[in-house]
Amino acid sequence: MTSIGQLRSQVASKERSAVEVARQYLERAERLDTEVHAFLRLTPERALAAAEAVDAKIARGEDAGLLAGVPIAVKDNLCMVGIPTTCASKILENYRPPYESTATRRLEERGALIIGKTNLDEFAMGSSTENSAFGPTRNPWDLSRVPGGSSGGSAAAVAACEAVASLGSDTGGSIRQPASFCGVVGLKPTYGLVSRYGLVAFASSLDQIGPFTRSVEDAALVLQAIAGHDPLDSTSLAVNVPDYRQALVSDLKGVKVGFIKEFFAEGLDPDVADAVFEAIEVMRDLGAQIQEVSCPRFARGLSTYYIIATSEASANLARYDGVKYGLRDREADALVPMYGRTREAGFGSEVKRRIMLGTYALSAGYYDAYYLKAQKVRTLIKQDYLDAFAKVDVLVGPTAPTTAFAFGDKVSDPLSMYLSDIYTIPLNLAGVAGASIPCGFDARGLPIGFQIMANALEEGKLLRAAYAYEQATEWHKRAPALAAEALTR
Ligand code: GLN
Repeated sequence: MTSIGQLRSQVASKERSAVEVARQYLERAERLDTEVHAFLRLTPERALAAAEAVDAKIARGEDAGLLAGVPIAVKDNLCMVGIPTTCASKILENYRPPYESTATRRLEERGALIIGKTNLDEFAMGSSTENSAFGPTRNPWDLSRVPGGSSGGSAAAVAACEAVASLGSDTGGSIRQPASFCGVVGLKPTYGLVSRYGLVAFASSLDQIGPFTRSVEDAALVLQAIAGHDPLDSTSLAVNVPDYRQALVSDLKGVKVGFIKEFFAEGLDPDVADAVFEAIEVMRDLGAQIQEVSCPRFARGLSTYYIIATSEASANLARYDGVKYGLRDREADALVPMYGRTREAGFGSEVKRRIMLGTYALSAGYYDAYYLKAQKVRTLIKQDYLDAFAKVDVLVGPTAPTTAFAFGDKVSDPLSMYLSDIYTIPLNLAGVAGASIPCGFDARGLPIGFQIMANALEEGKLLRAAYAYEQATEWHKRAPALAAEALTR
């Protein structure tokens, strides 16, 4: 499978045109997606128009950009002008945004070819894509298993080599957990590093956009393209974005790595624990100083998250009332019943569950006991991470307690589904950066993810640790059998 750097130079040297690359990936995606269902829709017109623009620039001798000729898939909760953006919900069926997200605009300004919109759990609520109103995505390593979620389509598209990179969003783990399940790199940047203008909001104090790729270097390049201040998003940080490529060095001399001891407890699959401990040993061999650190309040993350995220979701999803967007019930004879009937028909059961939980947590009389208390616990969890980052450069641990589970395994038990994000959620509460990179396979041949975390705006440290580890190992070079042919082209 070609890397971003190789593709860019092939296109720049006219070895192949961006239009040829776009056609090749659109054809592959169409063919493989009959099995994988990573995409809700392909966007050939957009991809080919972008490719023609890249080829025209190259013909004029101009620089076509950091991502020139790179086919990229985008989670279907990012708005693109005129292209249906559904969030995998019936309530947004046929909604065509009149505006473009900053992340997709920046991708295309740098020469990327956006080939389609990927599947997700409805409104990014879930860990398996089974909550999509349009059917689940299948894990390319084992089609009877979930790809993780909520950005399962974006992870599967990259794992199956249907796209070179993709964008997802991570509120509680939705980039890192599916990256782990699908054996690819997934990076959740610091809260505020990537503009969320045009990202359909789930939980606004937690949501962040980030890349999926097959290598750490490619993740650095996509992050480079999308990061940076945006006046259209008031939560976007006014900081200078460093050149992340400079962080990509192959050793870890002098780097302090802490493993979070509370992550290695009951509920962690032994194959996952073994692979993660081996990964830590690889880091030690590369020169890292390893130490144990404690984040004592990490276990409170899940309950805190499910109060804060649902509260924010209940407010953010109030706008889908049948008036302004998508679906509208045509039977009701008055406004209020129309609201109710539209929401009843338009939202799936997990979204309804979250709206009810959040509305309850915010209601008069319960606000102090739930929402306010959760905010206080959030501050304490954040403090645990800040204390840890005062001692070490990066933290490491498993991304998820298990590898990919089978369809149907957890749908009827929300709590066990929620537990698959136990190691990813605290990081969103703290607002810091985290990534999952491949670190092995379990006895069934399913990928295992290694989570590397860094303090706010220290993506450089995170990328360095991830890159050095990756260069010393071979895990990222494997691809699922159904995509094997792509590795040679
Ligand atoms: N799986 C978690 C949830 O269901 C996280 C989702 C996300 O990060 N968007 O809320």
